[in-house]
Amino acid sequence: MTRIYSPFIVAKFGGTSVANFDAMNRSASIVLADHDVRLVVLSASAGVTNLLVELSEGLEIHQQLDKLETLRTIQYNIISHLKQPSVIRKEIDNLLDNISRLAQSANVSPSDALSDELVSHGELMSSLLFTEVLRERHAEAGWFDARAVMRTNSNYGCAAPDLSALHQLAQSHLRPRLEHAIMVTQGFIGRDVSGHTTTLGRGGSDYTASLLGEALDAARVDIWTDVAGIYTTDPRIAPKAKRIDHISFSEASDMAAYGAKVLHPATLLPAMRKGIPVFVGSSKDTAAGGTLVHNTTDNSPRYRALAVRRKQTLLRLHSLETQPSSAFLAQIFAILARHAVSADLVTTSENCIALALDPTLATSGEDHTLTTALFTTLSSHCRVEVETGLALITLIGNQLTQAAGVCKDAFTWFEEHAVRMICHGASDNTLCILLPADTADSAIKALHYRLFE
Ligand code: ASP
Ligand code: MG
Repeated sequence: MTRIYSPFIVAKFGGTSVANFDAMNRSASIVLADHDVRLVVLSASAGVTNLLVELSEGLEIHQQLDKLETLRTIQYNIISHLKQPSVIRKEIDNLLDNISRLAQSANVSPSDALSDELVSHGELMSSLLFTEVLRERHAEAGWFDARAVMRTNSNYGCAAPDLSALHQLAQSHLRPRLEHAIMVTQGFIGRDVSGHTTTLGRGGSDYTASLLGEALDAARVDIWTDVAGIYTTDPRIAPKAKRIDHISFSEASDMAAYGAKVLHPATLLPAMRKGIPVFVGSSKDTAAGGTLVHNTTDNSPRYRALAVRRKQTLLRLHSLETQPSSAFLAQIFAILARHAVSADLVTTSENCIALALDPTLATSGEDHTLTTALFTTLSSHCRVEVETGLALITLIGNQLTQAAGVCKDAFTWFEEHAVRMICHGASDNTLCILLPADTADSAIKALHYRLFE
């Protein structure tokens, strides 16, 4: 009998939740415990994407064989626990053969397109294995190739989805299947118009889950990971960090954007557009609960969380005395635009602009590094000072620019720290502080103690 699953849930499992057979089995229990879970989105098993990325960079044959052996062991370990391993063994072997062939090509002539093709195999393998795990537990489960619906541009390594194509394809090819079976698909991977495999950027499976949730009008997107929700800061830095039970979309997306590692930074955008709640929990410990990110205005505290981004670079651009300051600003921002670099923090003085760059940010496919080309161009217009080894601490909260005392609360604890830059005022929800990276943890500890404990 077919049921029309109207309000259904998308469940996404990260690499550690599908790392081996036991993890897959625990994740399968989560899927089977709730009849509303109809679509499962998976990452590659933990460690697999890193191995594939290394292979795509072109390794010598003995190194290739080493990595291939490690990959094979991860897959075969899972297969060995299946009741009927032969069903899936051949398909996994075919994928492993593909990987080996692509790794050889990458050694001869590596390319971004080839790399995406190769790297996509991690999710292809984990999703095939997980489908089998569900079937062995008597579930009606089907495997679905996400590339059939995840249409993207051809920006390999960090492709952007074509939303209208995705919505249309998902409604016609995926939606009807959810009525007959639990569909298991891959996060992270897509396909461009010419049929080449693409990827959405590292950590992109979360993004896939919410894009599919949006395209298919899901009632909720559940992100199952290895931590029981979103915390006020990283508990490894401040052990008294508290789990946040409810958080608004904008607070959570600020946290992701400013470095909290739990969610891929783009994840909340699709969910926010449709008001689809996103739950974050631990697949190892479902009883521990988690965080629900949703449309909430009540209970928005002044201070919500502390996020940190490391490996930041500060550029100070000193204008040549002959330039009027308005022309100088225009010139510098035009240069940054030509080099596709967006600085997320900016402060200015009479004859100097300070910019913070994040070389690790690649969510929009931009190169946020200070390339030689950019440095040379800037140097012909101004004196450039570069400082690396910095960290950006962001205090996330609500109405921070309206409330009295925020600066006193935030800065009292920086008496022992050399603050290199402060950004406050552009956003009501963030106060950013740039300081030497080796002092970041002690600053977070002190601030967390003052504001959250
Ligand atoms: N497997 C991909 C990665 O490791 C995507 C993901 O896990 O979200 O980046
Ligand atoms: Mg992840």
